[in-house]
Amino acid sequence: MRKKFVAGNWKMNMDAAGAKALAIGLKEELAKCQDAAKVDVAVCPPFVYLPLVAEALAGSNIGLGAQDVYTEANGAFTGEISVDMLKDVGCQFVIIGHSERRHVLGESNELINKKVIATLAADLEPIFCIGELLEESESNKTEAVLEMQIRKGLENVTAGQMAKITIAYEPVWAIGTGKTASEQQAQDAHVFTRSIVKDMFGDDVAAAVRIQYGGSVKPANAKGLMTQSDVDGALVGGAALNVEDFIGIIQGSISRGCGCNCKC
Ligand code: PEP
Repeated sequence: MRKKFVAGNWKMNMDAAGAKALAIGLKEELAKCQDAAKVDVAVCPPFVYLPLVAEALAGSNIGLGAQDVYTEANGAFTGEISVDMLKDVGCQFVIIGHSERRHVLGESNELINKKVIATLAADLEPIFCIGELLEESESNKTEAVLEMQIRKGLENVTAGQMAKITIAYEPVWAIGTGKTASEQQAQDAHVFTRSIVKDMFGDDVAAAVRIQYGGSVKPANAKGLMTQSDVDGALVGGAALNVEDFIGIIQGSISRGCGCNCKC
């Protein structure tokens, strides 16, 4: 059985004091939750706050991730951050191919693939994002888009390396819009995603790979989404900026519910 994985993408939000307070609040609330070990949790703050969030989370089981990385190890790449730099400040995860990087910052499948390869080579764990635009969804191109993103993004990845990868299915029309995919839409896209992984890497990899759903996940819709059999957690944007909401989503991902004393 796949353990659920809930990750918070803080995007370009917070200041130092807010980042520290959010990390500490999350750590304290999660420590009260006796079922917390049933789900993997990570937060992905902006690069500049990674060290202070790492310090704030020390002693907790909350993982630390970055929102992006560059392909090269070092050198004349002004403004970029390498895998070794991320390891140096305690990162375990890296979000790669987020829709804002694909569609606002113009990242191609080829660049995303290079980032996946560099991340895996450094023994970091990619959260590899895929998802279709509204017009692609409306013209029945969702599966074609997902297949292209998966095949190109995971080119030259080995079956063994797939154990380190989480896939995040995030329909672009649902990100930050308040529109969520229906439970059935999410389940169908996840089943399709798993079928491509199976074709590329075989049955065992497909059965083991975790596929998060992302797109306006809130405490109110988390449980319905997370109880879909192929939805293995969530990548959360807006609701990850608030302790109570993020804890509520984590709680929603624990299938039998949380019977403990935490705020969730
Ligand atoms: C995201 O940024 O990955 C995301 C899913 O954002 P939101 O939860 O705000 O839709």
